[in-house]
Amino acid sequence: MDIDTTLCKGMSYQCLEGCGACCLARVEVLPPEQNRVQGEEDLEGGLQLSQEGVHLKSKGTGGACYFLTKRRCSVYNTRPHYCRQYPVPIMAGERLQAIPLLSCRGMWSLGSPFDPECQTEGGDDLAAHGLACQDRLGDKFFKRELNRTRGEMNRFRKAAKRNGYDLDLEPVTQLITDIIPSLCSLDGVSKVLFTSNIAVEDLDDIPSSAQIASMDKFPELKDLAAELARTSLEGDDMDDLPVFTDESFGWNIFQVLDDSINHAQMDEDGTTQMARSISINEVPLIDLDNSAKETMAKYLNLLLRRDSSWAGIYTQAISMEFEVPFWAICTNHFACIALELIWRANLLRTFGFTSSDMAREAIIYMDNDILEQSEFGVYL
Ligand code: SF4
Ligand code: SF4
Repeated sequence: MDIDTTLCKGMSYQCLEGCGACCLARVEVLPPEQNRVQGEEDLEGGLQLSQEGVHLKSKGTGGACYFLTKRRCSVYNTRPHYCRQYPVPIMAGERLQAIPLLSCRGMWSLGSPFDPECQTEGGDDLAAHGLACQDRLGDKFFKRELNRTRGEMNRFRKAAKRNGYDLDLEPVTQLITDIIPSLCSLDGVSKVLFTSNIAVEDLDDIPSSAQIASMDKFPELKDLAAELARTSLEGDDMDDLPVFTDESFGWNIFQVLDDSINHAQMDEDGTTQMARSISINEVPLIDLDNSAKETMAKYLNLLLRRDSSWAGIYTQAISMEFEVPFWAICTNHFACIALELIWRANLLRTFGFTSSDMAREAIIYMDNDILEQSEFGVYL
């Protein structure tokens, strides 16, 4: 089976001892490896069989994987595919695409993953790492998954056609490429949001980047940023919220409850200790510095080339019943990601997680969430 590894080309990564962030997931054991995994003696006692399939157990409620001990894998040689594949999940949608996952700190350990000079030095070659799953899972499995996800995409395209909806990717991709530099500053985000939310009805056709640049600003940007944060970080259970792995490998959870943000640190067994609480209004909304803006622009360009981003946009088109123009959903989607990234960088700084590149920290915190936004496709 062909797996497109273009996004990984030239990138490498090096796993960091003491991190263990990928072991916070509820690990699924995929069908082609269930027999092997269930036969491994050292995995006995750590498997959970249910109607949903086979998973690795977690410690406590919402803690790390059962097999993680002092941030080391105790079953390294027999660990399942998910652990071996990380940080390069394969997305099956209309095709198979290997996706570099930038929530993994190991992706940044040799320098910026976007910097060609750092991409070749040491570490595991990401494209080769992405392809290694073919032998592990076998063609038959990939074919079956791909048939299923292609079927989903076909149904979506037919529904779009029935509704006379224009899904022409080329002009929209060009527009997003043109506005990415503006999306790295709050002023630019604001104009894009104004165009896609307010001016949309006055525009007969897809606008140009120059037209967007001449637009008014979106009112109440800070309120929208807080609303986006609520969508991602609000919840009674800390177990369900995203974890930010800091530079010292501390696991941090930020929980939005009413108008407060609670910060807690989490142990391997899922125990949380409250550290500090502030009002959501105390998080400022300030532009990132120029080098962080550069990182952000490269990241947004990567998102533009991920199939998963388009799948997320298709999900939105359906939920809006094909009534909002495709270009407006796309520009709004990228503007909201940019706004939330800037907000999360400000959140981290407010809680004392300062770094030489706050865009990198916000991406590490947010990339997992971005990948999970789509209802289309499946990650293998
Ligand atoms: S998240 Fe990345 S760096 Fe951290 S343990 Fe997993 S593979 Fe290694
Ligand atoms: S099996 Fe090992 S590598 Fe996989 S999630 Fe558990 S501790 Fe982490």
